[in-house]
Amino acid sequence: MKRKIIEEIEKYDTIIIHRHVRPDPNAYGSQIGLKTLISSNYPEKKVYAVGEHDSTLSFLAKPDTIDDEVFSGALVIVTDTANTERIDDSRYNKGDLLIKIDHHPNDDQYGDILWVDTSASSVSEMIYDLFEEGKEYKGWKLSNEAARLLFAGIVGDTGRFLFPSATEKTFEIAGHLIRYNFDRNELFDGMYEKEHKLLKLQGYLYQNYTFDENGAVYIKLTKEILEQFNATPSDTSLLVGSYGDIKGICAWVIFVEEDSQIRVRLRSKGPVINELAKKYNGGGHPLASGATVYSWEEADQVIAELKEICRLYR
Ligand code: AMP
Repeated sequence: MKRKIIEEIEKYDTIIIHRHVRPDPNAYGSQIGLKTLISSNYPEKKVYAVGEHDSTLSFLAKPDTIDDEVFSGALVIVTDTANTERIDDSRYNKGDLLIKIDHHPNDDQYGDILWVDTSASSVSEMIYDLFEEGKEYKGWKLSNEAARLLFAGIVGDTGRFLFPSATEKTFEIAGHLIRYNFDRNELFDGMYEKEHKLLKLQGYLYQNYTFDENGAVYIKLTKEILEQFNATPSDTSLLVGSYGDIKGICAWVIFVEEDSQIRVRLRSKGPVINELAKKYNGGGHPLASGATVYSWEEADQVIAELKEICRLYR
């Protein structure tokens, strides 16, 4: 599969890379890491990374803006995106060939070529694998900048190597990547420094969660609460992991009210929760998923189901 992808990359003069909406470090890491990998090995090719820019990720990179005509005859690659609804920039099917590279369960099998590896900690790890294959097959080299982006993606998706998804292979790859010349401290600052307002919101999270007898935890962040802390819904991405250290926790859900919907951020220390996410317009990994509900009553149903999942798990 990796060789097939490398061969397709070699065939096309224009390559456009997409990733998911509401990007995180693994989305940018895999997408722009792959772009950097291809451009440095094939400087004559035109390689673009598209999708809306998230300013909180400016320390990593910025995507490109391109016209519709560029898609004509291009190779399109989508990284880190399980289903077509979550692909950022709906023009992904305007190219000549579509490749999906992902590590989420392959429920939506879109694309002409699919490389899906649910055992990979992150798609950035998969792109490193692709580089290793390219090195052996075509003499590819990895630039310092590509190494920085891939390292960021791996760190982000493994919660700094804390989650069970970080395997021996993940650590080995990270060991290779840190040998490249980039400033790791600066990168960690970009990823984890929090503004005062966010620490105060984190304080609210710690003071106000509900914990049941089976370790199911939830909190509802209404628009009013977010306003009180001058925080945006996307700011909460730095806080989702906060409850992971609570002794006796089984799984947790953080509801974040947005304009016309409520974002559901689900995490688990044991039971599989992506089936629950799928029931509420979402999906994701077995232990880290997301969904969307449209009322607080629906949110209460999610809580009831999560409590039942934890009860059965115990
Ligand atoms: P988040 O809480 O946004 O960090 O998401 C955790 C995981 O769930 C990520 O792997 C996302 O890809 C996935 N996810 C989040 N929201 C959705 C959604 N609406 N549909 C499918 N997967 C989602």
